[in-house]
Amino acid sequence: MSLSVLHPSTPAEAAAAHRDPATAFIAGGTALQLSWRSPAPALTLIDVLALEPVHGIALQADGSLRIGAAVSLETLRTHATVAARAPLLAMACDSLAALAVRHLATLGGNLGWRFGDTVAALLAHRAEAELADGRRQALSDLLAHDRLPLILALHLPPPHPEEHHFYEKVGHRAAFTPARIALAVAVCIGMDGRLQDTRIGLAGAGLSGRRLLHAEAWLNACQAARLGAADRGLRAAVAADLPADPASARLAARILGGRFGRLQAGDAASEPATSP
Ligand SMILES: Cc1cc2nc3c(=O)[nH]c(=O)nc-3n(C[C@H](O)[C@H](O)[C@H](O)COP(=O)(O)OP(=O)(O)OC[C@H]3O[C@@H](n4cnc5c(N)ncnc54)[C@H](O)[C@@H]3O)c2cc1C
Repeated sequence: MSLSVLHPSTPAEAAAAHRDPATAFIAGGTALQLSWRSPAPALTLIDVLALEPVHGIALQADGSLRIGAAVSLETLRTHATVAARAPLLAMACDSLAALAVRHLATLGGNLGWRFGDTVAALLAHRAEAELADGRRQALSDLLAHDRLPLILALHLPPPHPEEHHFYEKVGHRAAFTPARIALAVAVCIGMDGRLQDTRIGLAGAGLSGRRLLHAEAWLNACQAARLGAADRGLRAAVAADLPADPASARLAARILGGRFGRLQAGDAASEPATSP
């Protein structure tokens, strides 16, 4: 394989270079290098780390949290504001790779890799991607593209103060492979014990990142305490979200039913988000 690297100085320059289909953005390089053992066609890499807007974590005037695409997963795992404003993202990074990889690996690269563990968390947090021309696009819409454009940053709206969260990843321990399933959930519980504003992000090997919209609609208005790992209604709703993958749908429904059923019982990982 022959490689060359471009170092654009502006997002517009990087986006223009990416119009050539024989190019790819590179950030930490930890996901890209996984495919470098096998022979591949000539590739030009576009280094995004020198672009100023891909760095930093900041609260914005509109209340959103802006996270630069080049922020490392280790920074996200340990950052106090991320823990308070985007707890699912911190949880996802806590279950991801080893320290040395997390120091190099970036949020933008995790999205660009497509199987990344942060995808489910960002979907449940209703993230929008900031693109090279300054536009923002819902991450759920952006993931429908075969080839992702340059992502400069992610914007996450503030969580509801009473929101509960849980994150669950099922994978293989023997060697590094993408997670079988990563599930991230944000939900509120009304005074009457019913679920409200449920958001479920899902990603995994061979599964493009998505919200489980049928399951969300079915869960809203359910009594959390009545749910369990074998709930048939929930199983049917998740199957409608994953019609081409019944095995993953069964696994996801079991995880969701079990975790929702424990919500009222004071499950530690489901405490409401703390204030920033
Ligand atoms: C030993 C090992 C263990 C791992 N464990 C895990 C794990 O548990 N969970 C997990 O999710 N991943 C894991 N990974 C994969 C990888 O480390 C992560 O997905 C990481 O976040 C990729 O980030 P990066 O900056 O290194 O991406 P890169 O390798 O630089 O790029 C990855 C992809 O993203 C694209 N890209 C990069 N930046 C941008 C941008 N700003 N806008 C648009 N596209 C962009 C690139 O073109 C490329 O297609 C592991 C990797 C290794 C080597």
